[in-house]
Amino acid sequence: MNYLPINIKLKNKPVWVIGGGAVATRKIMSLLKVGAKIHCMATDFEEGLHDLAAQGKISLYLKHIESFSLDLLPEQPLLIVSATGNRKLGKQIHEVAESNRILLNTVDDPELCNYLTPAIVDRSPLLITISTEGAAPVLARLLKQKIEKLVPFGLQKIVQQAKALRPYIKKKIKQSQARRAFWEEYFDHDNQLILDKTQFKENPQAAVNQMINHNQTRTGRVYLVGAGPGNPDLLTIKALQVMQKADVVLHDHLISPEIMALVRKDAHLIDVGKKAGDHKTKQERINELLVHWAQKGHQVCRLKGGDPFVFGRGGEEIQELAAAGIGYEIVPGITAAIGCAAYSGIPLTHRDHAQSVTFLTGHCKNNKDEIDWAFYAKEKQTLVVYMGLIQSPHLQQQLLKHGKNPKEPIAIIENGTSANQRVIQGTLDQLPQLIEQEQVQSPALLVIGEVAQYAQSLAWYNQNNNHFEHNKKTA
Ligand code: SAH
Repeated sequence: MNYLPINIKLKNKPVWVIGGGAVATRKIMSLLKVGAKIHCMATDFEEGLHDLAAQGKISLYLKHIESFSLDLLPEQPLLIVSATGNRKLGKQIHEVAESNRILLNTVDDPELCNYLTPAIVDRSPLLITISTEGAAPVLARLLKQKIEKLVPFGLQKIVQQAKALRPYIKKKIKQSQARRAFWEEYFDHDNQLILDKTQFKENPQAAVNQMINHNQTRTGRVYLVGAGPGNPDLLTIKALQVMQKADVVLHDHLISPEIMALVRKDAHLIDVGKKAGDHKTKQERINELLVHWAQKGHQVCRLKGGDPFVFGRGGEEIQELAAAGIGYEIVPGITAAIGCAAYSGIPLTHRDHAQSVTFLTGHCKNNKDEIDWAFYAKEKQTLVVYMGLIQSPHLQQQLLKHGKNPKEPIAIIENGTSANQRVIQGTLDQLPQLIEQEQVQSPALLVIGEVAQYAQSLAWYNQNNNHFEHNKKTA
């Protein structure tokens, strides 16, 4: 780390901006927001700057600078913004700033800066600033966009309220640990809902007391959250919000480490993963745990791969919660079929090839084959099979027996949407052999139908890992 972020109060402090173009204007607009006393020196000025000067908001100094020195400035600056676009002049300004210990930012030239301006997510008094030490301003902007989406605008009001409330709470709750616990409660989303309703503005103390009382009788809640197929970019905003506020997270084994890294740092994590054939934790045990933690008053995130209601036993879990009288919410996720199809260029429906799509599971309860194979063997539809690796010989056999074309295109997608996604393409008659030959590992999804042919021609993601040669041989 080469820079220490500090937030500086510039109200009525002299700031010099050297340069009068569009960049300088942009900088001046942000300096005005914080009430700096702005002097601007340049050979000519944008129209907008003349307007600001006419309104008395800034002072302009028309000057052609031959050689920069502090004597040019009628008032000693605390801070200089150099936006001349002239590197030679920029270097002189830098030398002067360094030898006089003045803060200097030369726009788009980190070498000539002794302070940098970060990208800002502004919910003042809450400020989130992002800096790359000048290495990648575009990345900082992209991250800012992401964070903008994550941080609700309502937070601004909540932080303003907190500011007003601080002296009262400091008096009312003497012990610092208890005070910290209070603030943790205060910033909890559910508490904010209570606070808003009590018209905080009119009587903040009554509002806070009500919140404290409410928390003493608070009950837990379970959020059944779909984490998507593995790539953290595919999480929903709601999923991320719940992951960051839950006290307890019960997660499947399949949830990727990148996604687990986004869970609240001090949350209690419980891995309730089950791999096929290795029932490390039985479903009943998971249900028990959900009820147990919620009854203790915790906010519980049950984090599941894909979508909780697609082969995710979400239904069974909320049945238990409903029976125990525990509140719950469902946060949908991108299911493996949707994610894997998108990331392998396979349109699940297509006007020329498939009018419907079916999500099937290779694992049925009690292993009873209740599937209407004759229906699925029909043309012009897409079948997506979850957990189908082990049962693939049976699947192939049944589809062929019921009249499916042996040359029907198929795609096998392993670790879909992740950095090591692998797509293997072929035809139905090759299905179990391909899985064996390519040593396909779980998690993998099978796509059966004409649309699977596009895995090659429309591939766009991580193409180095794909295996299309089987398709060429049989084409
Ligand atoms: N609820 C989940 C599915 C759970 S069943 C969802 O909506 O996606 C687990 C099966 O999903 C795996 O055996 C595999 O067939 C499929 N699956 C999940 N993630 C996958 C991924 N990233 N790539 C390929 N298949 C995946």
